[in-house]
Amino acid sequence: MNISHHFDDATLMAYSAGTLPQGMALLVACHLHWCPHCRQRTEHTNAIGGVLLDNLAPSALSEDALNAVLSRLDEPGQEFAAAEPQGTRQQDDDLPAPLTGLLEQPLDQLPWRRIGYGVRQLDLELGGPGATRLLRISPGVSVPHHTHGGNELTLILRGSYNDELGRFCRGDVADLDGDVEHQPLVDTDEDCICLIATDAPLKFSGLMGRLVQPFIGL
Ligand SMILES: [Zn+2]
Repeated sequence: MNISHHFDDATLMAYSAGTLPQGMALLVACHLHWCPHCRQRTEHTNAIGGVLLDNLAPSALSEDALNAVLSRLDEPGQEFAAAEPQGTRQQDDDLPAPLTGLLEQPLDQLPWRRIGYGVRQLDLELGGPGATRLLRISPGVSVPHHTHGGNELTLILRGSYNDELGRFCRGDVADLDGDVEHQPLVDTDEDCICLIATDAPLKFSGLMGRLVQPFIGL
């Protein structure tokens, strides 16, 4: 896989610190599954976090601190470990492991919801701030111009698109903040399927954008 678009340093630092919303952490884990370059960068951000912890001044703990930490070990975390294949459940062979652990069916058999001409969506309903969804865009179709109230991460799972920022193919990520306005256009003859995670709703601009806002701006 030839990956040419990666995460910002700030995104990987937040991932190492465990401060990303659940969907964004899932998306980072999926890209890391495919990208040795970002896996290596994450080792560095983990090490930086470790050094920062080492340099913190010690402070006194309450008497029940140990029990409180131990009880939290049983709570579900936001780590997305590599999922083991489950029985005879049919899965896409070519998806990153953290995503195959979440989806019940192969991409082509998911219950896509049509939200406009040539655009289908599946909300992964992970909860928390923002939204995490799969977007499936037909060839030659572009998503309406939009900016982001917060940050948006996109991972290309199939196909490709291009926009004002370049060409994005399978494995690439777009790491965008709220100031970027873009209009991705699918530029091959196959559907482009992306995993998209935001920490705030999208903001569409233009007439077409305002028409689809109620459906896509989660
Ligand atoms: Zn990468």
